[in-house]
Amino acid sequence: MEKPVLAIIIPCYNEELCLETSIKKLFEVIQNLVSINKISDKSYIYVVDDGSKDKTWDIVERIHSENEHLKGLKFVRNFGNQKALLAGLEGVRDIGCDCAISIDADLQQDENAIEKFVDEYLNGADVVCGIRNNRKTDSFIKKITALSFYKLMNILGAKIPYNHSDFRLVSKRALDILALYSEKYLFLRGFFNEAGLRTSYVNFDVKPRIAGESKFNLVSLTGLALNGITSYSIVPLRFVTVLGFFMALFGFIVGLEAVWEKIFLHNSPNGWATLIVCLCVFGGVQLFCLGIIGEYVGQLFREVKNRPRYIKEVELK
Ligand code: UDP
Ligand code: MG
Repeated sequence: MEKPVLAIIIPCYNEELCLETSIKKLFEVIQNLVSINKISDKSYIYVVDDGSKDKTWDIVERIHSENEHLKGLKFVRNFGNQKALLAGLEGVRDIGCDCAISIDADLQQDENAIEKFVDEYLNGADVVCGIRNNRKTDSFIKKITALSFYKLMNILGAKIPYNHSDFRLVSKRALDILALYSEKYLFLRGFFNEAGLRTSYVNFDVKPRIAGESKFNLVSLTGLALNGITSYSIVPLRFVTVLGFFMALFGFIVGLEAVWEKIFLHNSPNGWATLIVCLCVFGGVQLFCLGIIGEYVGQLFREVKNRPRYIKEVELK
């Protein structure tokens, strides 16, 4: 039987310090898997340069000129890691492969686990999700926020395994299904869990970055989390409706009580504190709910404009 062609996708943003080492190590992984007859020798690496301002793309061009098994794509500007991943998945589908795995340029995800992903694929899985064994390398804030995010997503109905990362292998079949989704701000972690494909899991260790600094900050991570929520759950909107209903009911009862006191008890209330508290609480709740609705309106707004997901500058096939 023909061995499957594996494509390794690396999204990169200003990774000149890591990329060369990472590519070298990943080629070793590929060679090893070819030598034990698990994958085809046509397997390749696909780098997506997410508009880097440093020498990242020069490295890609140089290695490509020596070795055609390194292919890649460069964006005109920075579109963010999720877009780079999407472009990678679409790019390798165009070029052709049987399965594709995405891994970070800093090789924080253990490249030696790739063999386990391939094994799962050979056993018939269409999606193989990498699950981190721990978050030792993450800061305290990141641990807490990540945990809350996964918990919240599960409460909201989008079942994403905790500690799931974008270290993930997908089959050609999964790529074909992905191509049917025209959503511009597709939340990949949600998509691959929702699509109903045969999924298995591989645990891996997280290592420190090879070099350089993390390209994510609290703002970009919050953006990713909000996009995940608003594209995969409408529970927050229902929450607003239910909350609105109970607030209205409460208001109605308090109003009745006020009228009752006025008419029958004739004691003009001195409820200044009550008034202020109600005003502030309800004002806050209303703004919060407006914010939630605003997030969804924003999501609609972005999708409806139907802008391209990303713009390519060059592609090396
Ligand atoms: N990345 C990207 N575009 C961005 C930010 C990051 O393509 O706008 C890439 C980055 O080069 C790396 C991967 O996404 O390969 C993960 O980023 P990083 O290691 O900085 O994130 P962390 O591991 O700290 O979550
Ligand atoms: Mg990293």
